[in-house]
Amino acid sequence: MSNSKPSLDAHLAMCTADAMAMPQMVCRRHSCRRGQRCRWYFETSREPCCLRNLDPGQRAIFDQIYQAAHFAKGFLGSDGPFFEALSGPERLSDDLSIAIARNVAHRWMVERWDKARRAREKRIVAADRLRGAEE
Ligand SMILES: [Zn+2]
Repeated sequence: MSNSKPSLDAHLAMCTADAMAMPQMVCRRHSCRRGQRCRWYFETSREPCCLRNLDPGQRAIFDQIYQAAHFAKGFLGSDGPFFEALSGPERLSDDLSIAIARNVAHRWMVERWDKARRAREKRIVAADRLRGAEE
């Protein structure tokens, strides 16, 4: 345990793999491809087994998306300047992180989390509408 990486949240990691279409793109296990979900993970590291099939560049992308989803799981709805982007790549990244984290039942203060998610969606719709009116 000393020199190994911190273990992952297995469910969040599997949801991240799903969001990256790993079951369709890189899984060598028939049951993943068929079920369109990475179902297997290592007990010690809590990593989906199919992460072994990623090349280093793909793995770096997985880690980045996983970390962002992990942050969304823990911080959406908290008092901080988070998830406020209404356009651009940052908004897309937030959208993805929140969509992944939403699948995980043990989110931070679930009711507050969901309320913040709905409020964010309303802000985005309003911002999109405003942008549409300006164009
Ligand atoms: Zn898989």
